[in-house]
Amino acid sequence: MRYWAYFAAKLVAAGALLYGLLLSLSWMWPPAPPVFTYIPPRFGYDLGFTLAVLVWFLLCSGTLYLIVWDQRYRCRVCLRRLRMPVETGSWSRMLQFGLPRIEYICTYGHGTLREDEFQISGLANAEWTPHSDDMWEELCASSKDPGEPT
Ligand SMILES: [Zn+2]
Repeated sequence: MRYWAYFAAKLVAAGALLYGLLLSLSWMWPPAPPVFTYIPPRFGYDLGFTLAVLVWFLLCSGTLYLIVWDQRYRCRVCLRRLRMPVETGSWSRMLQFGLPRIEYICTYGHGTLREDEFQISGLANAEWTPHSDDMWEELCASSKDPGEPT
C-alpha cells in the first residue's frame, strides 16, 4: 500500500508541476487577437507555441518514464533504492547455468528483485520475492540437519 501511495504521490507532484509549466507556457504565448469573432488556435498554426508544446510533451513523457523506472527499482516495503546487482545465469551456457538474470536486494533484507535479461517476447515483469523478517532463519536453515524436526 505504501509502495503504491508513493508512486501516486510522485505522479501527482509531477502532474502538478508539469501542468503549472503548461499554464505558464499559455501565459507566455497569449492567444492571437480575434479575427471578427473567430479566435484562431495557437497549436498547429503558431510555430513557436507548437514547438514549445512539443518540448513540454517530451518533458512529460520523459518524466513519466523516469517515475516508472525509479519505482521499479525500489523496495516494496521500505521504499529505499534496491542495491547490489548480482548477475546470475550465463549468456553462453543458458542450458547449464540458467537464463541470465540480475538480482537486486534491499540492504535492509526486505526482499529480492529478479529481473530477466533475456527477453524474447517483450518486456517481462520483474519478480519480487519478499524475505522473512528474521534474517537468521534463512542462514540457519541451510545448516540444519534435514532429518531434524523443527
Ligand atoms: Zn527494504
